[in-house]
Amino acid sequence: MSKHRINLVVLVFLLFIIGFFASACGKVEGQKLDPTGPGNEKPSPTQTIDRPVSPRVIERIEISSGLFLRKIGDGAYVITGTIPWEANSVLVEMSDESLVMAGSPATPYLTQQVLDWSNQHFGNRKMIEINTGYHADNLGGNQAFIESGIPVYGSELTARLIGEKASAIEKEMLTSIGEKDPAAYSAQQKAKYLPPDNIFPIGKGLDLTFGNETVKVFFPGPSQSPDKVVVYFPSRKLLFGSCMIVGWDKLGNTMDADMKKWPEAIHKLEQFPVDVVVPGHGDRLDPGLIQHTLDLLQSN
Ligand SMILES: [Zn+2]
Repeated sequence: MSKHRINLVVLVFLLFIIGFFASACGKVEGQKLDPTGPGNEKPSPTQTIDRPVSPRVIERIEISSGLFLRKIGDGAYVITGTIPWEANSVLVEMSDESLVMAGSPATPYLTQQVLDWSNQHFGNRKMIEINTGYHADNLGGNQAFIESGIPVYGSELTARLIGEKASAIEKEMLTSIGEKDPAAYSAQQKAKYLPPDNIFPIGKGLDLTFGNETVKVFFPGPSQSPDKVVVYFPSRKLLFGSCMIVGWDKLGNTMDADMKKWPEAIHKLEQFPVDVVVPGHGDRLDPGLIQHTLDLLQSN
């Protein structure tokens, strides 16, 4: 082979490598919220990936005395923080290797433990966070996310409500944690409850695209709080119902709830095909939780 020919082969090879990396680096698409600029991928709702989730837990991973994970599928985890009370969120690996977290542990302290585990387990990945409401167990980790440069998506109503109530929530959480866990307590003294930094109109919801997978944020109307949204992963048939879906045998915190509209909101979730439904609180992860929540609301 002539020197000329070898140079040409090297050039073609380099162009191939560049092309491969350009297409492999998936983009996060949002409604004019895209932190990385518009991409070319179109959401294809019918596309499925072969990574099912199941209510049967594959593995339980103890992170600390205040945090454990349940693996429910390849790259799919239910995160449970137990300080100051048990609450669930989810962490899902998308087809382009990005990570999506929906909900968050109730404190930046526990959320940082999730981020440390994720870094250790997945390495340095692109991650986004979706707040499911303004209550502490829906966005309590925002300080940790924002300090780590992770974009936090939330509705404009959630942003407004946390803006109004942050200092009351900070005081309440410090009291609830108390001094029985000194490390959690001292971390909580510096905790701030911050609004999301990528805002979407609540009525419109949000569709995000990662490679050939989409994530849907949906507001079915007022429920357990005025601003609660669900996060749906169509290609996994995974619905994170947050505190709008109840996994306990009683309703829990209804101080902020719209008891009349809550059942209507739950009925709107029946449009989503589901294999797993993750409640804001509780062990159950099966699709029967939708009917279970309706039953609790009716008998209340
Ligand atoms: Zn809750």
